[in-house]
Amino acid sequence: MIVLTYRYKIKPTKQLFRQFDQYLDICRSVYNFAHAERKAWLESRKSRMDCCSILSEYIIAADAPFPSYKNQAKALTEAKKKFPHLKLVNAQTLQQVLKRLDKAWSDFFKIPDRGFPRFRSKNRFRSFVFPQLLKNCLDQRKVKLPSIGWIKIRQSRPYPIGFTPKQFQIVKKASGYYLMIVFQSTETVPDALPGKKSLGIDAGISNFIATSNQELIKSPKFLRSKLKKLKKLQLQLKNKTKGSNNWLKLQNKIALFHEKVSNARRDWLFKLAHHLCDQTDNIFIEDINYKSWSKGLFRKQSLDSGIGSFMNEILPFICWKRNKFYLKLNKDYSSQECPNCRLFTGKKLLNQRLHICPYCNIEVDRDIASSLILKQRGKTAVGQPVGYKEIACGERGAGVEQLTLFDLVTA
Ligand SMILES: [Zn+2]
Repeated sequence: MIVLTYRYKIKPTKQLFRQFDQYLDICRSVYNFAHAERKAWLESRKSRMDCCSILSEYIIAADAPFPSYKNQAKALTEAKKKFPHLKLVNAQTLQQVLKRLDKAWSDFFKIPDRGFPRFRSKNRFRSFVFPQLLKNCLDQRKVKLPSIGWIKIRQSRPYPIGFTPKQFQIVKKASGYYLMIVFQSTETVPDALPGKKSLGIDAGISNFIATSNQELIKSPKFLRSKLKKLKKLQLQLKNKTKGSNNWLKLQNKIALFHEKVSNARRDWLFKLAHHLCDQTDNIFIEDINYKSWSKGLFRKQSLDSGIGSFMNEILPFICWKRNKFYLKLNKDYSSQECPNCRLFTGKKLLNQRLHICPYCNIEVDRDIASSLILKQRGKTAVGQPVGYKEIACGERGAGVEQLTLFDLVTA
């Protein structure tokens, strides 16, 4: 089964946007209420049998069941009789809100390091879902939403052929409302098989990536190049009264700025992925945990460049789309091995930009050297002969045939 998500901008009309805002408000109130209910239940089980807190205590009957998704969904149907405004929102959309909360809670208990779910402010609640769609809900430049009706969209690309729409999600961004359509197809696509040409890709520090085709690609520093403008906006924000109209306007301007930066970054990353796929049949990359990377020394760079999402999401997706073979490889010692003679040359310091082999005297950029190693390891992993010349190295440099970089790249 293949699942694709397409994003379209919704054509703004005042009435529709007011309706969407109202939808968001109602969904958010349901979310926060349900969260409070769960939290109170949890707190009530915390107090000790023999003594209560002097200040206050949550008291919920001992046999009251935990407000699970099932219980809360039932309670929601009851609540609609009491609070008719809840009926304004599609019933399944509200159920999805409860499911979202349920997932946040179960993730908290299952996944280590996951924070405790929190109450959502307006800024943190920006989307809602229609999990079930009406028949024939897609048309040229418009879609039909359950319980809302036809809305106009900017159809920036045609709907995929052979796919059926499964779900709509409405997302609020600084630049307006967007519609995400999840398309599904029951057909299966066999995984791509390794082809002839191979490319090793190494994520660098001073470069965004280095490839075994000897390409060093610099990171465009999307945010960092525009930090001055952002700082200016933030400074202006300081002088405004919090919550005032001008403050809100400026807040929106900052959000728009961030949205533009992230759009530009995404666009660049997709183009880069296509550019890499143009050159090769197989792509080999390091298996790195970019999450821990982005917390460490290279925090700002790696977050700004989006290296993690590029290597783990965008690149495999484009490879799949273009029928290229993609493989993650063991990263150990990839920067300590010589791509020419394959001997260990030891750890490099961070500021050491060149790989200079003391055994075969080859000089290459360190990131390109790692990408060449990755290419060689990848070829071995898929059972292809590796073209580098194996040379027995006895003493330092003795009897080592020196290869030019060209030999390595074409190997
Ligand atoms: Zn060497």
